[in-house]
Amino acid sequence: MYKKFLFILSLAISSNSFSTEGMWVPGMINKLVSGNMKSMGMKVSLDALYAINNSSIKDAVVHFNGGCTSVLVSGQSLLLTNHHCGYSRIQAHSSLENNYLKDGFWAMSLKEELANPGMDATIIKEIRDITDMMLGDLSVEASEQERRAHLKAKSAELIEKTKEETGYDAYIKAFYHGNQYLLFVNEVFTDIRIVGAPPSSIGKYGFDTDNWVWPRHTGDFSVFRIYANADNKPADYSEENKPYQPKHFLPVNIQGVEENDFTLVYGFPGRTENYITEVETKNILETVNPLRLKMREASLSVIDEAMRKDELIKIQYAAKQSRISNAYKKWIGQTKGLVRHRVLDKKDSVENLFATRINDNPNWKSSYSTLIEEMEEIENAQLPLSVNRNYFIEFYYMGPEIFRFTEKYRELVAMCKDETVTDVAINAWVAEHSDNSGYFKNYNTSVDEDIMKAQIGYFVEDQKPIDFLNNLKSDKESLTEFVDRLYDESIFNSEESLKSFFDNFKRKNYKKIEADPAYDFSSRLAKFYSDVTRPELLKYVSKSDSLMREWMDAQMTVLPERTYSPDANGTLRITFGKVEGYEPFDGAEYAYYTTLDGVMEKEDPTNPEYNVPSRLKELYQNKDYGRYAHSTGEMRVAFVASNHTSGGNSGSPVIDTNGNLIGLNFDRTWESTMSDIMFNPTICRNISVDIRYVLFIMDKYAGAKHLVDEMSLISK
Ligand code: ASP
Repeated sequence: MYKKFLFILSLAISSNSFSTEGMWVPGMINKLVSGNMKSMGMKVSLDALYAINNSSIKDAVVHFNGGCTSVLVSGQSLLLTNHHCGYSRIQAHSSLENNYLKDGFWAMSLKEELANPGMDATIIKEIRDITDMMLGDLSVEASEQERRAHLKAKSAELIEKTKEETGYDAYIKAFYHGNQYLLFVNEVFTDIRIVGAPPSSIGKYGFDTDNWVWPRHTGDFSVFRIYANADNKPADYSEENKPYQPKHFLPVNIQGVEENDFTLVYGFPGRTENYITEVETKNILETVNPLRLKMREASLSVIDEAMRKDELIKIQYAAKQSRISNAYKKWIGQTKGLVRHRVLDKKDSVENLFATRINDNPNWKSSYSTLIEEMEEIENAQLPLSVNRNYFIEFYYMGPEIFRFTEKYRELVAMCKDETVTDVAINAWVAEHSDNSGYFKNYNTSVDEDIMKAQIGYFVEDQKPIDFLNNLKSDKESLTEFVDRLYDESIFNSEESLKSFFDNFKRKNYKKIEADPAYDFSSRLAKFYSDVTRPELLKYVSKSDSLMREWMDAQMTVLPERTYSPDANGTLRITFGKVEGYEPFDGAEYAYYTTLDGVMEKEDPTNPEYNVPSRLKELYQNKDYGRYAHSTGEMRVAFVASNHTSGGNSGSPVIDTNGNLIGLNFDRTWESTMSDIMFNPTICRNISVDIRYVLFIMDKYAGAKHLVDEMSLISK
């Protein structure tokens, strides 16, 4: 089947109509797509974008800690990414005395750069199409289970072989829902240090109100550096490490952008679902998104209020709040966009066209006549389980932290119960896990308790029929009383109680852990998910995966005139577009750029989201923009373009027609968050911070000109 698929792939794209839709795999861009890129203004060659033996732009594009993108801009591997991508690192180094979130941070020499244990940065060396090797000898009759086992064994074998052959790491990812497989040879660096970050009043200017919104005035950048050992190879943090010498870094174009300029975004988009059916889209819109929003609204109302009232809580919960509110607001925009642009109708007409065409072709009819119907059935049958799963995610993983904190003690309890485990091993475990100061530094018991109180009602109400909840409380105890008791009695609620419990820990004390109300509740939730919801869900997942694979193949066969770029899956992609504004709603038109004047217009000293630092005001008043001003004399802050991007593209380099850096992608407009499900070129816009604003803040605002001097600036 896959040989037929590859043939279809070339056919399908060769009849592609011109659009900026698509996240393309570098090194595998076909003539028609590259022709479109050229006709939109791209002058740089495909080889300059991606090469294996020579250095190319791909060597400067770095996967930032698995979730964002970053770009190398100097021979000493200065690394630019978004402020929101570096946020949790900046937060981790912040305290009331050294509040880098509030005041910013700038290392004035290599010595002052701050280490970030646990972080990584990955550079892709090569991308190989290994579909043949993965699927070549797979029997057409293989069941889904056999297929999985086959792919697992093949992956392990190919990864091992690649590692031996190249000396680098490797991973394999499925494309087109399992119709194609690519292998990524990569190098993972683990000594990544913070070099600089503006204050949040610049890097997060407009906070939640402006998040996902255009016009935007956020200087969303932070600066890191990759360190390597004496051989320029990845190594864990060591004082001896030196700045990594990259194969390539991007020159920075300070000429700026004009309307209709070509833009290329090179990065690691996380996840899109561009090929799901109408029914699945409907379920997301009507069932899944509303429940997620309800649960997050509950936790955010608690966190936001606590952060407003208390400066310490503001630091402690800054990164957590962003994690919750970012997707929360995105889902609202996504729902609005999908409804407004009648995506259900559009999906429906694609499915109708598909049905009409297969009716006229006996071969297609025999292969595909029940496909959509089967997909719908599976989707609707698994919906209640998907609801359970989403409640679990929202309550257990995104809700009160005490759930996740008690998790690790399950290992201790299991060890204590296991007669083959010695007391020495148990004591060693306790000693190894005795320092919980990192966790409690950012924990506030009443915030956590209030989050549980705010969410538990929804959770219980929806999951009521499930009998494990009967064990939570006696008949007379209300949910609020139950939560009060949980936090009052739990040893996991404070560093002191935990410490005194473990100071003289005896093996038999595991019973007390088991009886702890927070531990007990957390274990029940996790157990219910892993023993009941997940296994049931998995039964459907394997069937729906195989239908999706078929559906992808079928669409490309039957509707070859449509664009088929692979859904995002956290791998390196190129998207192209041009600098352009848009009409967000009837009667309104948005310009393609914003300026520092707009920052000042939004200023509101009474609203912490719109405070402007006095130094920035001074620079604005004196129009002291130096070489970073636009030709009109204004200081440009951000611009929008029509690149098809997603979460994970945060921090991606925005590259001009000649391969130079002109901005850092950091967001999409609210109207365009629908692009994770359907991209609409007239409305979908990605938002980037103008690179000149980044340099201006470093140089003029922060006095860190030495960093700008490390880069290679051009103006043409
Ligand atoms: N700002 C976005 C994010 O946080 C980037 C995007 O989705 O376009 O993931």
